Amino acid sequence: MENCLFCKILAGEIPSSKVYEDEYVYAFRDINPQAPTHILVIPKKHVGSIAEADQASDAELAACLRAVRKIALDEKLENGYRVVSNCGPDACQSVPHLHFHILGGRKMAEEMA
Ligand code: 5GP
Ligand code: ZN
Repeated sequence: MENCLFCKILAGEIPSSKVYEDEYVYAFRDINPQAPTHILVIPKKHVGSIAEADQASDAELAACLRAVRKIALDEKLENGYRVVSNCGPDACQSVPHLHFHILGGRKMAEEMA
C-alpha cells in the first residue's frame, strides 16, 4: 500500500534491522526501543490493524503469533515478554499497518497502559 511506512520497510525502500522473515511475516527492531528487546512483527500483506483482521487469512494471522514465539526463543526471552498490538486512536496506534510489539529484557510495569 502506498504511503504506508511498514509497506515501505517491506519493499526495502526504508532500511530496517531484520530479525525474522517467512512467507507471511517480517520482523524487525523498533527504531525507538522501549525495552532492551523491542521487535515489531508485521504481516507482509497490508492490514490496517486488528480491527481489519477480517481482511487477513487465518494463515497470515497465525503466522504472526508463531513468529512471536520463535523470535522470543531466538532472543532468549525465557524470563517472559509482553506482546502489544495498538489498535486505533485510543490505543495511540501511530503506524496503520498491523504490528505486534514484542517487549522484553526488563520487568514490565504491572499496569497495562
Ligand atoms: P504504534 O505506535 O503504531 O503501536 O507503533 C509503531 C512503532 O513503530 C513505534 O514503536 C515506532 O518506534 C516504530 N517505528 C516508527 N517508524 C519506524 C521506522 O522507520 N523504523 C522502525 N524500525 N520502527 C519504526
Ligand atoms: Zn502497510
